Amino acid sequence: MTLKAAVIPVTPLAQNCTLLWCAETLEGVVIDPGNEVDTILDAVRQTGVTVVAVLLTHGHFDHVGGAMDVAEATGAPIKGPHADDEFLTTRVHESGAKYGLDGGRDITGNAWLNDGDTVPFGNETLTVIHTPGHTPGHVVFYNAAAKVAQVGDVLFKGSIGRTDFPRGDLDTLTHSITRRLWPLGGDVTFIPGHGPTGTFAEERATNPFVGDAALGA
Ligand SMILES: [Zn+2]
Ligand SMILES: [Zn+2]
Repeated sequence: MTLKAAVIPVTPLAQNCTLLWCAETLEGVVIDPGNEVDTILDAVRQTGVTVVAVLLTHGHFDHVGGAMDVAEATGAPIKGPHADDEFLTTRVHESGAKYGLDGGRDITGNAWLNDGDTVPFGNETLTVIHTPGHTPGHVVFYNAAAKVAQVGDVLFKGSIGRTDFPRGDLDTLTHSITRRLWPLGGDVTFIPGHGPTGTFAEERATNPFVGDAALGA
């Protein structure tokens, strides 16, 4: 099994749209197509990947604004996030406008994901982990074979997701990170929703919010 990944930063918020694919079959998934759909579709074409699903970590407009267009262009279904983010996925365009940005299109027809669900593509599988706190319906996509996690806005290199948005909660987010992500192992590489990739071990050693020292663990 060989998992390949390409990160495509999109939107003025530099959101990491992520293309994951199986090198053996060239089947793949697009995670969080925030906007700038042409850029995303160009990247897909360059890899020669057949997109079999459009996956969403959570409902914020900078992560989902291009999902409907990518789904229509590729014929792939939209999966995610967890249903608790429906209050966001149905107001994508309106949310972007609040920031003076093109929020993209509201999401319809998507399949909601639950903790423990799996998303297959080619010879690869992603496991869904429900990680509320930044938003109530946030999910993480984890590939156990490669030890790679797309964590959206849950965790960043040296930081964590904001919890001051509607229905955000810091204790819930901290619990999601320390009880749901850390047990996957320090050698897991994470791709965050914004900024550079990292490993869980580095964050446990140095993260000022959820590092072991910060939490007195
Ligand atoms: Zn977010
Ligand atoms: Zn974000």
